[in-house]
Amino acid sequence: MNNHVTVLEIEGNALLHNLNYFKQKLQPETKILAVVKAFGYGSDGVQVAKFLEDKVTYFGVAYTHEGVALREAGVKTPILVLHPHIQNLQSIIDFRLEPSLYNFNIFNAFLQLAAQTPLFSYPIHIKFNTGLNRLGFWHTDVPKILTNLKQANHVKVQGLFSHLAASEDLEEMDFTANQIKRFEDIVQQFNTHLGYRPMLHILNTSGVVNYPNAQFDMVRIGIGLYGFGNDEKETTKLKNTHNLKSIISQIHSINPGETVGYNRAFIAKETTKTATIPVGHADGLSRKLGNKKGFVYVNNQKAPIIGNVCMDMIMVDVTRINCQEGDEVILFNTQEMIQHIADISETIVYETLTVISPRVKKILKE
Ligand SMILES: *Cc1c(COP(=O)(O)O)cnc(C)c1O
Repeated sequence: MNNHVTVLEIEGNALLHNLNYFKQKLQPETKILAVVKAFGYGSDGVQVAKFLEDKVTYFGVAYTHEGVALREAGVKTPILVLHPHIQNLQSIIDFRLEPSLYNFNIFNAFLQLAAQTPLFSYPIHIKFNTGLNRLGFWHTDVPKILTNLKQANHVKVQGLFSHLAASEDLEEMDFTANQIKRFEDIVQQFNTHLGYRPMLHILNTSGVVNYPNAQFDMVRIGIGLYGFGNDEKETTKLKNTHNLKSIISQIHSINPGETVGYNRAFIAKETTKTATIPVGHADGLSRKLGNKKGFVYVNNQKAPIIGNVCMDMIMVDVTRINCQEGDEVILFNTQEMIQHIADISETIVYETLTVISPRVKKILKE
C-alpha cells in the first residue's frame, strides 16, 4: 500500500465541472472521449476513469497496458488505444480494447489475428496522418485499406480519426483547415465504398475551442479535463484538478554563513529557519525550481525553495512563517501555480502534470 505523505489530490468536482464546460460547447449529439493516458495526465487514470465512467462515451489511452489497467479495475466503457503495437494485439482482444490501426503492418496483423481467432465485427479505428506526420495512414493508402477490408467481416470500422498539429495556434488556421479538409476527403472515400458510417473525430481540447465546426461525431478531451484551456482566459473558466500536498518533516535554524543542501548552493545571510519537505525531483518536481526559482505555500504564506532540489526532498525558507513540523505544505493547488512551475521549468503544463511520479500517492476526492 502506498502511504507516502506527499499526496496528489484529484478534485472530482473539478473534473465534472471541466467536462460539463466542454459539453456545453458541443452539439448535443457530439460524443466525448476522455483521454486518461499517462496515468490521467499524472493523476490516476483508473480512479479518473471509474469516476467518469457513466459520463463519457469513450476513454482514450496511448498504450495497450494502460487500457488493460482500466479493464482490470472494472471499467466497462469502450476504450480506444491510440498507439498499440503488434506484440500487444492479443491483449487488445483479450481485454476488449479497440485498437487504432495506423499502418499496414499493424492493420494486416490485426486482420489476420481477427480471422484466426475468429472475431466477428470487432471494432477497429483507423488513424490518418493529415499533417502532424507522427502516426497514421496517408490518404493515398485508402484504396488498399478498403480492398483489405472487403475480404474481412471479422472487423468493423468503428472510427476514422486524425489529430491536429497546431489546434491551439490561431496563426496556423490555414494549415489546420487544410488538415480538416484532408480528413473530410478521406471520409468521403470511405463513405462511398464502405456501406456503413464509422464514427469520425479529429479535435483535441484546443480543437474544440478553436474549430467547433469540426466536431464530427466525437471529440477527444485531455488537458481541458484537467483544467487547462489554450489560453489564460479559457483556463480561468476551468477548475484545477491536481493539488500536490505534503508536510514539513523537520525544521532547522541555520546560522549566518552556514549552507543548505547539496553543493552548498544556499548560503544563509542571516539566521534562517528552514523546513525540509519530503518531495523531490524523483516525485516529478523539476530541479529548475531550486535556488528560489520555485516556492511552496506553508500556512498560506510563500516559502521559496532554497538550495538544490534533491531526489527525495526540498528545503524551503520559513524564517518569517509561523509553522511547525507536521504542518501542511502546498506544492501547487491552482492552475497559476502549475503554469508558473511549467514556465520556470521551461516546459508546458502537459509535462509538469505528467511527470508527477507513481511514488506520489493519488487520492480522488469526490
Ligand atoms: C493526447 C491526445 C489527445 C488529447 O489532447 P489534449 O490536447 O490533451 O486535449 C487527443 N488525441 C490524441 C491522438 C492524443 O494523442
